[in-house]
Amino acid sequence: MLGPPGSGKGTYASRLTAILGVPHISTGDMVREEIKAQTEIGRRIKEYSDRGELVPDDIIIAMLLERLKKPDAQRGFILDGFTRTLKQAEELEKLFRINLVVNLNVPDEIIIQRLSNRLVCRRCGAIYNRLTLKPKVDEICDLCGGELYQRDDDKPEVIRERLNVYRRITEPLIRYYREKGVLKDVYCNDLMTPPDVIVEKILGFIRDMEKEEAEKKGG
Ligand code: ADP
Ligand code: ZN
Repeated sequence: MLGPPGSGKGTYASRLTAILGVPHISTGDMVREEIKAQTEIGRRIKEYSDRGELVPDDIIIAMLLERLKKPDAQRGFILDGFTRTLKQAEELEKLFRINLVVNLNVPDEIIIQRLSNRLVCRRCGAIYNRLTLKPKVDEICDLCGGELYQRDDDKPEVIRERLNVYRRITEPLIRYYREKGVLKDVYCNDLMTPPDVIVEKILGFIRDMEKEEAEKKGG
C-alpha cells in the first residue's frame, strides 16, 4: 500500500487481511511497538518518529526482513508503510516479487482533517476517526475494549513534516513501480467515502492480478 500519511493504508490493509488471510505488516506499528517496549532499537528510532522523519533505511529494512521470515508471511503479505525509499524498494526486490502496488491518491485537505481527528486503540491498534469512523462508545475500542488515544505524530506541525517527507522521498516510488507495471491507482476525494468502497476496488485489482498470473502460468 503506497500513499501519503492518512491516506488510509492501515485502515484498508487491516480489512484486506481479514478477507485474504495473509498478514498485514505495518512498519509504522512495528516502530511504535519498539518505542513503547523501550528496546535498544526503540531508543534509537524514537527521535525520528517524533519529528515525522523516516527511520534510517538499514534499521527499518532489517526489522522488516526479520518479520517476513515468520511462518505466517510465507504465503504472502500486505505491506503498509513499506517501501518508503528507493533503497527499501531495491532491497525488498532482491528477496521478493511484489505483485501489486496500490497507490492511494488523497488530497492534502482530506489528509489533514483525517489525521488531526484520528484515534488509535492502545491495545489492538484499530483505527478510528472522530468525524468519520466513530467508536460506539467514546474513547473505547469497539473490537477489544481498549483505550483510544491520539498518536504523538498526529499533531499539526508533525503532520506537515510527514507530508513533506512523503512528497520528497516516497512519492518518487510511484514512478518506480509504475514503470515495473505493478502499480494501480485508487482515488479518494471525499472524506466520507466508506472504507469498504475502497476495499472493494482493491479486491478487484487483486482478482485481475491473479487472473493475469494464472494466464501467464497456463499460457
Ligand atoms: P503514516 O501514518 O505517516 O503513514 P506510519 O504509521 O506508517 O505513518 O509510520 C510512523 C513513523 O514510523 C514514520 O513517520 C517513520 O518515522 C517510521 N517509519 C515507518 N515505516 C517506515 C519506513 N518504511 N521507513 C522509514 N521510516 C518508517
Ligand atoms: Zn482495540
